Amino acid sequence: MGRDGLKEACIITIGDELLQGYTVDTNSAWLGKKLNNYNIRVQRKITIADELDIIQYELSKALDMYDLIFVTGGLGPTLDDVTQSAIKNILDAVSEFDENYYTELKQKFAAKKMEMPPNNRSQAMVINGTKVIPNSLGTARGIHIEKEGRHLFSLPGVPTEMKGMFNKYIVKNYLPSVKKESIALIRTTGIIESNLAEILKAKIDEYSDRYSFSFLPKFTGVDFKIRQDAPCELGLDSVSKYFFEWLSPYAYGWGNETLESVLATQLAQKGLTLSVAESCTGGLIGKRLTDVEGSSSFFLGGIIAYSNDIKINQLSISSDLLMKDGAVSHSVAKVMAESIQTISKSDISVATTGISGPAGGSDKKPVGLVYIAVSYNGNVWVKEFNFFPKRLIHREITSQTALNMVRKVINE
Ligand code: AMP
Ligand code: MG
Repeated sequence: MGRDGLKEACIITIGDELLQGYTVDTNSAWLGKKLNNYNIRVQRKITIADELDIIQYELSKALDMYDLIFVTGGLGPTLDDVTQSAIKNILDAVSEFDENYYTELKQKFAAKKMEMPPNNRSQAMVINGTKVIPNSLGTARGIHIEKEGRHLFSLPGVPTEMKGMFNKYIVKNYLPSVKKESIALIRTTGIIESNLAEILKAKIDEYSDRYSFSFLPKFTGVDFKIRQDAPCELGLDSVSKYFFEWLSPYAYGWGNETLESVLATQLAQKGLTLSVAESCTGGLIGKRLTDVEGSSSFFLGGIIAYSNDIKINQLSISSDLLMKDGAVSHSVAKVMAESIQTISKSDISVATTGISGPAGGSDKKPVGLVYIAVSYNGNVWVKEFNFFPKRLIHREITSQTALNMVRKVINE
């Protein structure tokens, strides 16, 4: 138990394939997030090999230190799966054959018109002194050890089975019944981590005795996490709203909200329609908008004007302008936005033209340069940026910035 009374946990994922990078360990990330939501403090997370000695060493060490230990992997029927043997050795216990489960297993195979391989027999063994965690989605059942008030749950590696068993068995019986939301996540974009920290410094100091704060930067923005650690006359709700206000205009949403989902709601609420003319983003803006359910209520469509020909023929950009200023220019971005707005009769339009690289840059126009234009209510805003010069990231940041410009323009 931690000083603040929160239960402390350790996550151990087992599998050579995880260590060698063939399989990405998504189990521990999923468990970490879940446990955090239940106010359980994950203190340590490790990934270890399918080796008996190592598993025994780490599991028994964890059993001496943590209130809750979550183990995934190594419960399969094959020789490389040795978690069950490790647990048996730690407890110095014997296993018993579970005749009923063996019959059930055979029936599961028979139902699929398959003969059960002899290997699966090991999955009907139950270690004395442990409880069985049922698995409705697979053949490997989990193992639950309770020792001096501490709990170790050994679950299969297959993510769907692991999640099902966690939700059905562990949540119900061993996690606090009231899920207390003590975390708020504010999503921001258009500001870098250090500037955000600077803006928030005084506010963070004001609340740091009862709240903890962290910055989670990504290329498309920084998520700001607020966690309530101690009771406070101003609850998490009020405090996080206060921070959200303060972070305006960078803060666009909460938790799992995306910029496109927030923008979709705002466009729909205001009854505004949007169209796009995309060059360097290659349709990514349209893709992100149409990822949102119900996007047909505000998104009319657009043109991916990648080549000069399409820019000339579809978006009425004059070849003179293209010759004079170049396709990646302030003036071309502006006309792209105006044209698509006229063609589609949308209320708002957004256009992108830039150099995502790796080729195509020059001294005057380096890779990373991009112009984004937004047209609304008879005004066109055009901005020049120079984003990270790696193709996919450049496209992602450009689409994010374009959506954010639309968000700002309609909220002004
Ligand atoms: P196991 O229970 O060790 O036999 O693992 C069964 C399957 O689940 C294998 O295909 C693994 O690659 C996968 N798996 C095991 N551990 C993890 C993990 N931590 N995250 C995601 N997948 C996993
Ligand atoms: Mg394995």
